[in-house]
Amino acid sequence: MAERTEAPWTDAQVEALNRFQALRLFHPFTCPNHSGMRDKDRALVATRHGWRCPHCSYTQGWAHRWMLTVADEAERLDSMVRIGDLRALRKKNKQEADND
Ligand SMILES: [Zn+2]
Repeated sequence: MAERTEAPWTDAQVEALNRFQALRLFHPFTCPNHSGMRDKDRALVATRHGWRCPHCSYTQGWAHRWMLTVADEAERLDSMVRIGDLRALRKKNKQEADND
């Protein structure tokens, strides 16, 4: 079974969980009481004391442990891709300059 982290969370963990919710790479945690709403409208909001629904009193006291680091990983990968693009662009520009 996947490892879980239980509230209360630190400010840094709360921030990481809310970044996860905003990532859209994975399905966010959502409130089960608003099945008619779009996922992004019923996404739970992390607080130090657990997840809260913005529309009702639903709460949830745990998260998957990997959710704490995945936003950082995604940003690191994203910047690696951009650095890769930059290198490819430099190489292309150099080849074009060499051909002149
Ligand atoms: Zn709700």
